[in-house]
Amino acid sequence: MAYSYEAPVSQSLFDRASAVTPGGVNSPVRAFRAVGGTPRFMVSGTGPYLTDADGREYVDLVCSWGPMILGHSHPEVIAAVQEAVSRGTSFGTPGEGEVALAEEIVARIEPVEQVRLVSSGTEATMSAIRLARGFTGRAKVVKFAGCYHGHVDALLAAAGSGVATFGLPDTPGVTGATAGDTVVLPYNDLDAVRAAFAAHPGEIACVITEASPGNMGVVPPGDGFNAGLKELCAANGALYISDEVMTGFRTSKAGWYGVDGVRPDLMTFGKVMGGGFPAAAFGGRGDVMAHLAPAGPVYQAGTLSGNPVATAAGLAQLRLLDDAAYARIDAVSAELRSLVGDALTKEGVAHTVSAASNMFSVFFTDRPVRDYDDAKKQDVFRFTAFFHSMLEQGVYLPPSAFESWFVSTAHDERAIERVAAALPAAARAASEATA
Ligand code: PLP
Repeated sequence: MAYSYEAPVSQSLFDRASAVTPGGVNSPVRAFRAVGGTPRFMVSGTGPYLTDADGREYVDLVCSWGPMILGHSHPEVIAAVQEAVSRGTSFGTPGEGEVALAEEIVARIEPVEQVRLVSSGTEATMSAIRLARGFTGRAKVVKFAGCYHGHVDALLAAAGSGVATFGLPDTPGVTGATAGDTVVLPYNDLDAVRAAFAAHPGEIACVITEASPGNMGVVPPGDGFNAGLKELCAANGALYISDEVMTGFRTSKAGWYGVDGVRPDLMTFGKVMGGGFPAAAFGGRGDVMAHLAPAGPVYQAGTLSGNPVATAAGLAQLRLLDDAAYARIDAVSAELRSLVGDALTKEGVAHTVSAASNMFSVFFTDRPVRDYDDAKKQDVFRFTAFFHSMLEQGVYLPPSAFESWFVSTAHDERAIERVAAALPAAARAASEATA
C-alpha cells in the first residue's frame, strides 16, 4: 500500500531507533508492522491531542492504550507528579502514597480486601498466578484464546494484543514445560471450561480471564459467562482471576466488576491506576493474599513497586474519576461509535461496532464476534485502509484491527467533530480496499 503523506522526522527517528532497538520499538504493536508505514514518534500530548515529531496534531483514540483516561497532561495529575518529584523519586522504603493508593483501590472495588502494588500489568498477572498456584498447591492455569495478560511465559499461548496482531501461534523462548501447564480454551465457551475441569480433576489452580476482553478487539463476555466461570472455579477448588488491567477504573468506577458484579477471588490492575506511570496491582480475598511474602510463603517483590511518583500520579487520576467523569467518557464513546457505524454503513462496508461499556472496537465483518476465531475472520485489509486514511486526516487509531479504542474525559466536541470529519473518506477507503 502506498501512502500519500510523509513523516520525515518520525522516519529518521525510526531509522535511528531500528539501529539500536529490535524493530525500532520498545513494545511490538507500536511499530506499525500490521498496518505498514512509519510509526509516529510523539513529542507531546494535551487533552485529547498528540503532536508528533513532524509537528502534526492528532486526535488520540489510543490514550496510551488505556491509561490516559483524563486526556494528556491533565493539570491536576501533572501538579501531583511535580509535587512528588520535588520530594525525591524513589526511597525503597514504605511511603504514605502507596498506602493511600491501596486504600483507594480497596474502597472502590469491594472484592479487593488486600492489594499489592507492582510496576506493570504483566507483573500483576504473573504474580497473581504464582499466588494462585501457591495457595491451591496446583499447577495448571486455564486461559482463553485471544485474551492477553501481558508477556508472562505461561500466558503467551494463543494470546491477543500484539500476538494476535502478528498472528504468532506461539513464542520461541517459552519452554514446553512452562506452557505445558497452560490450558487454552475458546472464549465464551463454558462447556469447554466444564470439560477442562473434568479432564484435569484437582489439577487446575486458577482460571484467568480478561474481565471483558479488549485484546482481540472488544469481545464482551456473553450473558452469564463470568458468573459461570466463578461457579465452576468454586465447585472445583480453583481460583477465579479477573484481569482488569484494561477494564479496571475505566469501564466504571469499579471497572468491569462494577458492571457485572461477579466477585473474583483475585483481580489484576494496571493502566488507569498509574496515571501514565508504571504502576499496577493485584489483590482480592484476604485469606489468599495472606499467602504472599512477607505475611506468607509465596515470594513476590519489586525495587520500584509503589514508587512515590507513580503512586502520586495514579492517586490524583483516580480521585478525579467521579461519576461525572464516567458519564462523560460513556457519552463520548457512544457518540463515536454511532458516527463510525453510520459512516461505514453509508459506504456499504460490512462491520460490527463492538462495545463493552466505553471500550469499543470495529470489526470489519458483519458476522457476530464471540471469540478469537470470529475476530480473525474480519477483513483486516479494510481496517488497514481505514487506519491510514484516519491517520492522514489527523486521527490516531490503534495500529491494529485487534485492539480496543480508548477515549477520555478530555475528548470534547471539537475533538469529536474532527473525528467525524475524517470518517467519510476513511469509510470510502475501507470500501475501496482490496485484499
Ligand atoms: N492484562 C491485560 C488485560 C492487558 O491489556 C495488558 C496490556 O495491555 C496486560 C495485562 C499487561 O500489562 P503491561 O503491558 O502493563 O505489562
